[in-house]
Amino acid sequence: MFSKILIANRGEIAVRVIRACKEMNIRTVAVYSEADRNSLHVRLADEAVCIGGPKAEQSYLNIPSIISAAEIADVDGIHPGYGFLSQNAHFAEICESCNITFIGPTAQSIRLMGDKIAAKDLMRKTGIPIIPGSMSAVRNKEDALKTARRINYPVIVKAAAGGGGRGMRVCHNDVRLISALMTCQAEAEASFGNSDVFVEKYLEEPRHIEFQIMADRAGHTIHLGERDCTIQRRHQKLIEESPSPVVDVKLRRKMGELAVRAAKAANYTSAGTVEFLLDKDGSFYFIEMNTRIQVEHPVTEMVTGLDLIREQIRMAAGESLGMKQDDVRLDGWAIECRVNAEDPANGFSPCPGRIASYHEPGGRGVRVDTHIFAGYEVPPYYDSLLAKLITTGETRQEAIRVMQRALDEFFIEPLRTTIPLHKQIFSDPTFWRGQIATDYIDRQLQQQTGETE
Ligand code: ADP
Repeated sequence: MFSKILIANRGEIAVRVIRACKEMNIRTVAVYSEADRNSLHVRLADEAVCIGGPKAEQSYLNIPSIISAAEIADVDGIHPGYGFLSQNAHFAEICESCNITFIGPTAQSIRLMGDKIAAKDLMRKTGIPIIPGSMSAVRNKEDALKTARRINYPVIVKAAAGGGGRGMRVCHNDVRLISALMTCQAEAEASFGNSDVFVEKYLEEPRHIEFQIMADRAGHTIHLGERDCTIQRRHQKLIEESPSPVVDVKLRRKMGELAVRAAKAANYTSAGTVEFLLDKDGSFYFIEMNTRIQVEHPVTEMVTGLDLIREQIRMAAGESLGMKQDDVRLDGWAIECRVNAEDPANGFSPCPGRIASYHEPGGRGVRVDTHIFAGYEVPPYYDSLLAKLITTGETRQEAIRVMQRALDEFFIEPLRTTIPLHKQIFSDPTFWRGQIATDYIDRQLQQQTGETE
């Protein structure tokens, strides 16, 4: 087992990893940017090293600086969290070459799944349904138009290296497709350093259903059930729940088996997520595999009773899974809201600033994963996630009721946050009935403001 782990991240996930390490009796090293000097992860870790300026490129994406900190602190493992370097194959290789275990999958799996075109190709060969579309990167407008003729509009242009819901464009006709192709290529190059894009059929009103995978280094792979992440804004998740209101035992078994098969095909080890879109007619398709711990992992923890970070650390240390698929028990219902420092009434513009007063909900069935506190200054440099509010109940209705009262108890003043939007969603009968698709929020907002994309 590891004796000391460096957490190459910040915010709530750094705190989350430190908590797991403490419970496992592993020492922790926090790294922080100049903007994060007074952060909770810095206070909670056993040691802390400043790794650079406020911008992510100067600090949390600065590989030489992080590796120096790891060597000076003499750690034997690095946990990358999510975002930043978590899906950077080069970083995973550097860690290994410095004899520091990267707590995640191999660089090879990260690289393979980090290219959505290669990942889809592998899944097709493995017999996993994929969304019809181009089989390789689309180089020019003729390629794109040919694909659109074959699969019919609407189509979506996506960056092969895309993530975080960025670099995607939905197109309903040739003119839109040609302009989307150019903007997507340019955006993909600027954001991901890879201009490859592809075109696939755009599914209308699907649900986003993903499976949590756990795989040890001896080749045992299981899934921990699904998460329904259908509530999104502009392809970014806002609310996640487990189980899904639309997945029954039979469908869970079928999708779960395919998710495990997908992970095995990628020689996957560690915690990972196989994402599917579930179409209105009940068919489902692989969209991508995320090779890291996900923001929404707590809902799976709440229904399985497992600590996924602990499992991830154990797998990285070479320990075996210790459970079979049949041992996995899914109990009750869990829902997570992402509380972001964004103003839903003003185009979700970021709202950083100082938190003057803070009150966190508690009581039965409530879990809050956060790094914020009264007096904390939310810096403008990073993503806007302030807290994850997770509630549980025996049934979905109970988890929703707990969520409603927990949202009423949550005060983060004077910042503008997504809490009012969450309150609105949780009181909507359509949401209660679970009759939702990925366009739910954008539609609701359009109805309220008359805004169109
Ligand atoms: P990212 O890696 O940026 O998260 P994904 O490929 O996982 O991108 O897709 C994110 C979301 O975008 C999905 O959950 C879904 O809402 C939407 N999306 C992606 N591909 C399609 C598609 N072919 N049809 C409809 N929606 C899609």
